[in-house]
Amino acid sequence: MAIRSLRLIGDELLAKKSRRVDKIDERILAILEDMADTMYESNGIGLAAVQVGILRSLIVADIGEGIMKLINAEIISREGEESSIEACLSVPGYQGVVIRPEKIVVSYTDENGQSIVLEAQGPLKRVLCHEIDHLDGILYNQIAESFYEATLQAEGEELDESEELGEGEEPEDLEGLEGVEAHGGAGAAQAESGEAVSSADGPGAENASDGELGSDSAEAL
Ligand SMILES: [Zn+2]
Repeated sequence: MAIRSLRLIGDELLAKKSRRVDKIDERILAILEDMADTMYESNGIGLAAVQVGILRSLIVADIGEGIMKLINAEIISREGEESSIEACLSVPGYQGVVIRPEKIVVSYTDENGQSIVLEAQGPLKRVLCHEIDHLDGILYNQIAESFYEATLQAEGEELDESEELGEGEEPEDLEGLEGVEAHGGAGAAQAESGEAVSSADGPGAENASDGELGSDSAEAL
């Protein structure tokens, strides 16, 4: 069990496609354990293996209903459209609005080797869409309708990290953000704190100025 260091935007590995897992062995199970530890340590609700530097099709998620470990997860059908506000452990200090399907069906193998077909909506759908994009080398800011600095940093981090990121591979994505209003105002600030991670009905939700997007929370994925 170990906490692994997170790959951040600008790291070229994040743009690569993850390989399928053919055999679930001790090493794969250990990676999944470490991924879960790393996700919880970072107050995230989802994590893909590429985010800890491993290009294998492995995802962990916990939307407040216990840990899920997904091997070779794929979306096999999509229905409808829905806006979701997302944040990413690999893109600290930012969040954005992404159009996702309203409902998806995902196939995957669990850590016991069982094939599972799962229909997902709401928070689980949002997490799985985001993490499966990671497996394809896609970060949410590349497909977001809007992408902006979160108004309040978790754990008191300074926002000057964006300057450092500007020297990375995708400076365009992060430059020119000055003056972009954080969507949702007070609600967004509330959502960025670790406390809001699993409570969509928390005090932040009442302050949300943009009701059509539903919960204003931006859990890190
Ligand atoms: Zn992410």
